[in-house]
Formats: sequence, C-alpha cells, structure tokens
Amino acid sequence: MICITIANQKGGVGKTTTAINVGTALAATGLRVLLIDLDPQGNASTGLGISTQDREKSTYDLLLDEIRLQRAAVPSRVPRLDVVPATVDLSGAEIELIEYEGRTHRLSEAIHRSEDRWDVILVDCPPSLGLLTVNAMVAADALLVPLQCEFFALEGLSQLLNTVERIRSRFNPGLSILGVVLTMYDRRNRLTDQVSDDVRAVLGNVVFDTVIPRNVRLSEAPSHGLPALIYDHRCPGSEAYIALAREVIARFPKPAEAA
Ligand code: ADP
Ligand code: MG
Repeated sequence: MICITIANQKGGVGKTTTAINVGTALAATGLRVLLIDLDPQGNASTGLGISTQDREKSTYDLLLDEIRLQRAAVPSRVPRLDVVPATVDLSGAEIELIEYEGRTHRLSEAIHRSEDRWDVILVDCPPSLGLLTVNAMVAADALLVPLQCEFFALEGLSQLLNTVERIRSRFNPGLSILGVVLTMYDRRNRLTDQVSDDVRAVLGNVVFDTVIPRNVRLSEAPSHGLPALIYDHRCPGSEAYIALAREVIARFPKPAEAA
C-alpha cells in the first residue's frame, strides 16, 4: 500500500481536482484506490458524488475516534475508488487534536491499523500547513504538489519545502517528493509559458512532464458529482490527467521504500 499526499498551502491550485482525477485514472488501471478527504470543505467528497447523508462516518471520526479505515470508507460511483468523506466538524479537529497525545500521527495510525484493502491511498489536504496537513505528511510515502501556472507560482513553495524538511527530520524520514505538477496552464497566455519555464529551471526533474491545461470541463464535472474523467473522458483536461497518472505510476516508491 502506497500513501500519496496531495498538498499545497495555497487554495485553488488544483489539489482536489488532481486527487479526484488521478484517483480515478489509477482505479481505471485496476488499482484499488482510497481517497481520504482531509479538507473540512469536503470538495473531494462532493466532487465524487458523496451526499451529506452518506457521510455517516468521516475523516473526523478517523482522526478523533480511532475508527477503522474500512468503517469510514464509502464507495464512489467509480469502480475500485472509495472515499473517506469530510464533514464540517473536521474544521474543529485541528484545535481538538492539540489535546491528543501523538496528534501528528493520528492519520498514520489510522492507516496502519487497517487491512491492506487498497493499493493506493491519496490524501487531499486543506489549503494550510496546519495539523491536518502535518498528519497527511506524516502518513505519506510521497508528496504530490500541484502548482498553479501563475506569476506567483513559486511563492510559498519554500515554506512548503521547509515543512517537508521538518517532517522528515522529526517524524517521517522516508517522505519523498513524488513530483510537482503544473496546473491551469493556458497556452494562449504567454505568461504561463514563462512561469512553466521558470518553475522547471528552478525545480528540474521533480516537475512532471505532463501539464494540466486550464479546461472548463474540469471545473464543470464536480457539480455533477463525477470526475472529469467520467464526465467527459476525452476533454483535454481528462487526457492530461490520464498522462499524469501514468507518470505517477512510473514514479511510485519501490515497495522496499514504501514499507
Ligand atoms: P484546491 O483543492 O487546491 O483548492 P481545486 O482543485 O478545488 O483546488 O480547484 C479550484 C477551482 O478551480 C475549482 O473550481 C476547480 O473546479 C477549478 N479547476 C481546477 N483545475 C482546473 C483546470 N485545470 N482548469 C479549469 N478549472 C480548474
Ligand atoms: Mg481542495
């Protein structure tokens, strides 16, 4: 079982869209995938068509009440893709967790006390570097970082990388960076080309070859409770996410490293 955390403390950079569509593409290859929604806004849960009534158990219970992963997971409409949904009470979890011993390891422990029912776990983070994201980084084998093609793309990245360094030295030495994916690329805008070149010059090979284009189908799909990959599997956004999933698989940490 491999755990990949999707994080960036900036909001609106494509974390949730990436979690949903990479998750769907991985499931389509036959892998059993679990998406853990760690954002109190619950966009990944909603985007996968999990209604509020179907969120009987949630990430909150996973972190605070130590329930088992398989008790909290619900199936999505995508075969082999399950979800641990988020509810609004997760927004209080960050404060409540402070009282707990081992507060940085709650998610990691939840994952490790569960059976190997899934091949890949994806964790969709909230837009902050708070305790929820720290839990996701402590639990992860690798990090996937979406970066929006905009002028300030690299701003804030050093803060993210400092946090990764701290997590490595204190809690999770095996945490690797799977890659950085450029999102919302607009080929009609020359600035985004410039941004993409700059990011590659600074970060090098850690940046995935695949770039996710700005594509309205990607933003329409969640309101139908479907991944773009099912809503319109031939749109440029879906094609890009299929290509990204292929690169993600090629970069999976080796089982020995993942252990
Ligand atoms: P985050 O989880 O980082 O906050 P989201 O994935 O929710 O970001 O994306 C923010 C908004 O932008 C959402 O409305 C989403 O549908 C939209 N969006 C994300 N990626 C794209 C894209 N490549 N093209 C167009 N819209 C996108
Ligand atoms: Mg999100």
